[in-house]
Amino acid sequence: MNSVNTHCPYCALQCAMTLTPTPAGSPTPVTIAGRAFPTNRGGLCKKGWTAAELLGSAERILEPMLRQSDGSFAPASWAEALDLVADQLRAGRAEHGADSVGVFGGGGLTNEKAYQLGKFTRLALGSSRIDYNGRFCMSSAAAAGNRAFGLDRGLPFRVEDLDAADTILMLGSNVAQTMPPFIGHLDGARAAGGLIVVDPRRTATARLTDDGGGSHVQPAPGTDLVLLLGLTHLVLAERLADTDYLARRTTGFDQLRLSVSGWWPERVQEHTGVPVWQLRDLARRLAAGRGVYILTGRGVEQHVDGTDTATAAINLALVLGLVGTEHSGYGTLTGQGNGQGGREHGQKCDQLPGYRKITDPAARAHVAGVWGVDPAVIPGAGIAAVELLGALGRPGGIRTLLVHGANVVVSAPNADTVRAGLANLDFLVVCDFFFSETAAMADVVLPVTQWAEEEGTMTSLEGRVLRRSRAIDPPAGVRSELWIFQELARRLDAPGVYSADPGAVFDELCRASAGGSADYSGLDYARLDSGEPAYWPYPVGSAGTPRLFLDSFAHDDGRAHIVPVRARTVPAPAQTHGALTLITGRLLEHYQSGAQTRRVAELATAQPEARMQVHPATAAGLGIIDGGWVEVVNGRGTVRCRAQLSADIRPDTVFLPFHFAGDQRANLLTDDSTDPVSGMPEFKRTTVTVQAIDPPGPTITDYERVMADV
Ligand code: SF4
Repeated sequence: MNSVNTHCPYCALQCAMTLTPTPAGSPTPVTIAGRAFPTNRGGLCKKGWTAAELLGSAERILEPMLRQSDGSFAPASWAEALDLVADQLRAGRAEHGADSVGVFGGGGLTNEKAYQLGKFTRLALGSSRIDYNGRFCMSSAAAAGNRAFGLDRGLPFRVEDLDAADTILMLGSNVAQTMPPFIGHLDGARAAGGLIVVDPRRTATARLTDDGGGSHVQPAPGTDLVLLLGLTHLVLAERLADTDYLARRTTGFDQLRLSVSGWWPERVQEHTGVPVWQLRDLARRLAAGRGVYILTGRGVEQHVDGTDTATAAINLALVLGLVGTEHSGYGTLTGQGNGQGGREHGQKCDQLPGYRKITDPAARAHVAGVWGVDPAVIPGAGIAAVELLGALGRPGGIRTLLVHGANVVVSAPNADTVRAGLANLDFLVVCDFFFSETAAMADVVLPVTQWAEEEGTMTSLEGRVLRRSRAIDPPAGVRSELWIFQELARRLDAPGVYSADPGAVFDELCRASAGGSADYSGLDYARLDSGEPAYWPYPVGSAGTPRLFLDSFAHDDGRAHIVPVRARTVPAPAQTHGALTLITGRLLEHYQSGAQTRRVAELATAQPEARMQVHPATAAGLGIIDGGWVEVVNGRGTVRCRAQLSADIRPDTVFLPFHFAGDQRANLLTDDSTDPVSGMPEFKRTTVTVQAIDPPGPTITDYERVMADV
């Protein structure tokens, strides 16, 4: 095969790369070269550079695996495995009803897979119980965007638009580690001294503000909403608002003024720890900039008030007149590889393709027409991810679960409860490349293709639809999910047609999306292969939409809706003696649950295990030494890992990465309380206590942890 242009399998920056197949016997089946592209400009991070190692990994599952009566797995033919799955699905539905079958999807699935997964669940399984791990990532920002603008596209502008900005306020995002090539787009703001990073930790991104690059604002964890309300208060109090813009382009401003009136600077300082002088500087800088962007990330969104916090960031941007202009804006930085497309085409519990509402009769009629079924056949809205996982194995809940592109044993909040729910299921089917911690609990594991072995599309963090292209053939025993859906649908005598051809599925997806807010109807593979920048909405006859909202917002009245929000949970981080606030996040070397990156030698060597970051003063008080073992405890669980002393974190806060398995799962501790609007769990503010412990004997490997979990 010749070299093939495609994009990275990991994060939403979707860096462009060229894959060249290698001769038999080479260390990896392809070599990877970064490719010139507006977002990554030829650059890749170490995750992207090393991605090919997983294609030929010795740990790869190469044939369907069935659990045996002694708990072990044994290989089986595809016919045997699919017959078993279909039989179990039929039996489960007959005994417990269609909604006893649940489906859990992922933000890394291609658009075609995400679309087909939603269709398969609703038509072939007749179940409403589908949701996905994007609920843990983008749901709060998506909900805020929908209610403010009438539409949710993470960046409503191009990534390279940021280059010309002189001021960028980045809240709760560590792009220097999560998507390193992105930081080149911050250079203009840094040169102008206008990069402002809000993060309780002094991260690699916060350090970009050193030497005149800007400023680092270090609020107490969970106080971002108060900070944003305070900044909006200052903009109004100092008469820095763009009143003409507010009058022309928004509704709801009068109520906003009232909602922020109580957040004067001294009170904000008291709650956030951010000094008054810095608050004033920040408000004035945002108002004086010529190209100003406000960007939010998971740090401010993954809270029980995440939707309101993202809304407060949008309100600040609207008061400053930034949104829907050529030179400024608000955006949220999508994390997972297809975190954008994955939330548009029907794997959310309340959604049909094209970002349509499943409760909208017109949307149901349109999609039913494309699917060739009566609209009444399509179930109504289901339940969001945390609720769905909470129903696993419970009476009247989910009895059978299919998992695609997710590793909930590691990634879900209150993870041991989820693990217990999985153990109580009648039947668990997992599609994966490896025995992830979740696959290791399955009754049937179906091995699926990886990124370099398949065709499809992904939609990047800027709403640009990109082609994923096949460079090599998959191993003989591996199949695509589209083929699996087709085979299962046939066995279940499902209504509708399920093509295994990604191009045909994309064409159908485009028709189904026509007229929706995420309209792809003017696209096809040939257009995408030509390299044309394809930003949705891209209806038939258009040339796409690189910048949204220039003329009007997506609400019927054409205006942005300012939604006043209030700080319901005024933070009090450490209420009891010895209590600390735990925040969780990512490392440069790993992606999401680490199911893939922990299997790449270079990445695993660099970051082999979880380390709890703690301030030296806090550590001294607790008798903790650098590299010494600690136990991090709360009512939900216990994490045992080494400590890493660092003055980059506040003394009242500790940090754990969430990529690791076994008793190093940060999500053993996180809270499954959810945001009432978005269903987002509370990942970023958990109360824990920490104590030094003796080393726990020989360090166990990830593999041993997985097997201990089985
Ligand atoms: S920044 Fe993201 S898309 Fe780019 S190489 Fe790294 S993981 Fe891949």
